[in-house]
Amino acid sequence: MSKKEDLRGKKGFHQTELYAEVPSTCLPIVYSPEYNITFMGLEKLHPFDAGKWGKVIRFLKEEQFITDEVIVLAREASEADLLVVHTTRYLNRLKWSLVVATITEIPPLLFLPNFLVQRKVLKPLRTQTGGTIMAGKLAMDRGWAINVGGGFHHCSSDKGGGFCAYADITLAIKFLFERVEGVARATIIDLDAHQGNGHERDFLEDRRVYIMDVYNRHIYPGDGYAKRAIKRKVELDWGTEDMEYLQKVELHSEGALNEVRPDIIIYNAGTDVLDGDPLGGLAISPQGIVKRDEIIFRAAQRRGIPILMVTSGGYQKKTARIIADSILNLHRQRLIGEEAVEGAGPSHVPLMMSKSVSSGATFSAI
Ligand SMILES: [Zn+2]
Repeated sequence: MSKKEDLRGKKGFHQTELYAEVPSTCLPIVYSPEYNITFMGLEKLHPFDAGKWGKVIRFLKEEQFITDEVIVLAREASEADLLVVHTTRYLNRLKWSLVVATITEIPPLLFLPNFLVQRKVLKPLRTQTGGTIMAGKLAMDRGWAINVGGGFHHCSSDKGGGFCAYADITLAIKFLFERVEGVARATIIDLDAHQGNGHERDFLEDRRVYIMDVYNRHIYPGDGYAKRAIKRKVELDWGTEDMEYLQKVELHSEGALNEVRPDIIIYNAGTDVLDGDPLGGLAISPQGIVKRDEIIFRAAQRRGIPILMVTSGGYQKKTARIIADSILNLHRQRLIGEEAVEGAGPSHVPLMMSKSVSSGATFSAI
């Protein structure tokens, strides 16, 4: 079988490797070691823990929730994949190190030749972007999926910013609309501390996409134009704490999903709401974040709506541990991988419930 996916006669779509079938023995958790940005200590110049994605995976392995064999290896989004949303003009601008230095907020990149910027910074981001697109299809097949990276919600089709160089959320949704039958509506629940102005700009005129956004009203990006795309806007003040936050998250996620029933939920689960985050300015505890994720997954499960989670912002030293704890809690609560714990016991028993297993399909797992 060809390495490229058979597009089953659908005309007008480019060939992509991101929709290749995944074996039923894999959990719909997408990751690649390529996610992590490590280059001559350059990553230390950024206030980000640029290795948080790998640490999440390490913690999940230590807790014996996953092994290399059961997670899905993310593939890099190709130029043709990116062009589903991005303009050629924008992708060409990324060939200037100055532009990438500005978008990623890593000024020294300005002094690097672009081939190094491409390989060491943009490739990891393109791989995370591929991961989100892959997780979109997996969520439809399995009912849930988690991309351990992604969530670049400040990037739109022709503009990057705030560390976001590719519009992975917009891409995942457009891929689903174009290629997966039965996906006609999507709801984005964006709980990163910042306003998700990228996907908002991309879906400003698109009534198929319902956007709920909960963010600190006083911080970046304060994009008034993009705010017009938000159907349910929850603006928070400095230092908002667990009780108020969780009440609002629950009330409005229930309200949003009652208002419009989507075919998929894209959950942007940024952890920069964490108390002490230098950028977020909110004061949510680690337990509050775990509870928040549980609220969203429960709302999806109760309604039988597939959910795709991406991890987005939040780069403190303790962030990776919290993301891992939250994923483990979702598993304990039987909100993810439920079928894996029924029967034999250990949580890493392979899943046996994929709706679309095709023999001879190509895949990769790490
Ligand atoms: Zn953020």
